[in-house]
Amino acid sequence: LGGAARLYTEEDPLVILSSGSLKPTISNSSSAWLVQFFSSWCGHCIQYSGTWKALAGDVQDWREAISVGVLDCAQEENFDVCKDFSIKFYPTFKYFRAHSPPTDRGTTYRGADREIQSVRQLMVNILQNHTRMDRPQHCPPLEPYSSAELLPLLGQRSDHFTAIIVEEPDSYVGREVILDLLQYSGVQVRRALSSDLPLLDALKISTFPSIYLLQPNGTHTHLHSEKKLRFFFSSLLKALPGVQRRLQAASSSSSVGQVEALQDQHSTEPWRDFDRSKVYLADLDSALHYLLRVEMATHSTLEGEELQVFKDFITVVAKLYPGGAWVVKLMETLSDWLLSLPLQRIPYQAVLDLVDNKMRISGVFLGAELRWVGCQGSRAGLRGYPCSLWTLFHVLTVRHEATPTALDNTGVQLGSAPVLQVMRRYIRTFFGCEVCGRHFEQMAAESLDSVQSREEQILWLWRTHNRVNNRLAGSLSDDPLFPKSPWPSTSLCSSCHEEKNGVHVWNRDNVLHFLRRHYCIANLSPRYSL
Ligand code: FAD
Repeated sequence: LGGAARLYTEEDPLVILSSGSLKPTISNSSSAWLVQFFSSWCGHCIQYSGTWKALAGDVQDWREAISVGVLDCAQEENFDVCKDFSIKFYPTFKYFRAHSPPTDRGTTYRGADREIQSVRQLMVNILQNHTRMDRPQHCPPLEPYSSAELLPLLGQRSDHFTAIIVEEPDSYVGREVILDLLQYSGVQVRRALSSDLPLLDALKISTFPSIYLLQPNGTHTHLHSEKKLRFFFSSLLKALPGVQRRLQAASSSSSVGQVEALQDQHSTEPWRDFDRSKVYLADLDSALHYLLRVEMATHSTLEGEELQVFKDFITVVAKLYPGGAWVVKLMETLSDWLLSLPLQRIPYQAVLDLVDNKMRISGVFLGAELRWVGCQGSRAGLRGYPCSLWTLFHVLTVRHEATPTALDNTGVQLGSAPVLQVMRRYIRTFFGCEVCGRHFEQMAAESLDSVQSREEQILWLWRTHNRVNNRLAGSLSDDPLFPKSPWPSTSLCSSCHEEKNGVHVWNRDNVLHFLRRHYCIANLSPRYSL
């Protein structure tokens, strides 16, 4: 592969096409396609790649209706196909309708505006350019419904929600929300126009855009959205009870089997009610319990780098763990013991013996059993340990900022992001899901060195975790009760979300403020702890 191919990687939410795959992919496809033919030596293409990736991420849930691809014309193997498609300038944007014949060479988009919002609206227009007969199979109607079609639905029972977005004729919000919900079952989204007076009258709507919701039980109501923006509307609908992302048949990147193998098999546990805006000490204790007693215990001896990673991890936890005094005491004892050992190699059984011994003397321990609360899954094999491990490290980054000198003189020499470096090394060395570890290592190698402060440490982990959520959304490890989505949700933190030039953006300062509050000691709930 030339350097070119690396402009886009398999991690990006788009399809990398080549001479061999272009025609089979686009011809007779059940979805429409928007393909950027670029050249890796073209400076503008390099600069533009960030926008194209952001666009692809923005519309990745639309892919059953319209997919985004790239093809690098600078690669020798692609010379012929680029000639065949008459690509003379880079980048060239071509779109292909669904079910297009093999002879189709696509339609070139000549618009000068290549910003995300304009290209996204182009995608909507491409979809609307299909007839009822050749529309992509999975694309719901994007045309407005009339009051004559919608009003009879009022009061009717149904097995799903129906959301009606009432908007001005030139607004794209309704169509974008319809497409955002394409992968979700349990809700149908329709749009209607602000010019439809009987509808406005019946629903008492006077501001646009607005969402009106018909519930499965026949009742209907306005849906209040804090901000009248696409992201807020889509998030509200995705959060309705029973609305679920349909699972992808197979996920190439998730290593579900391995994640599942890490989970405890207790499936008969009673459900513990919990509040999503809290962090539960029981989850943090269970993370440590699982880590020490199960994950680490698969290593019969520790030496060299492994021993160093384990020592540093224990030291960081001993210094920063926000929970029960007893756990902290245990971690401190373990840390002191590890640091005082003259040995280069220790049998892991010795660690287990120390932990057991402490436990016997005190009569208390890190939950004698695993007890997931905020990390409960809707069935065994979902959530649990990996959820609690993320939570633990988020808590540690926030705690490190709150107690900046805690790691002084501990021998943990890990630059300006010690918690992240310890996490990186732990995940790389011990995390049982190896593929997950490799993905995480890739992300750390890309950008962890740029983290220069404690607040960036908090934000880096949040951003990286969202990248993982994004990649895993709809995969088999996605718990239907807790679908992976950008976090925090609009209901947890509305001020974290904004829109700029029609594109969802995070308000960095508000996110930071939220993370500090969410993962601080005051927000730790002792409920269900031992
Ligand atoms: P999780 O993603 O585990 O999140 C736990 C909790 O953290 C959430 O409930 C929420 O309260 C909070 N949260 C969510 N997002 C954020 C955020 N951005 N910032 C702060 N807090 C947040 N699984 C795979 O199948 N493939 C992988 O490649 C993979 N890589 C992983 C890498 C690491 C380092 C870890 C720890 C886990 C990985 N997993 C992977 C597991 C996966 O990320 C989830 O942990 C698991 O599927 C359970 O998901 P969950 O719904 O409980 O939420």
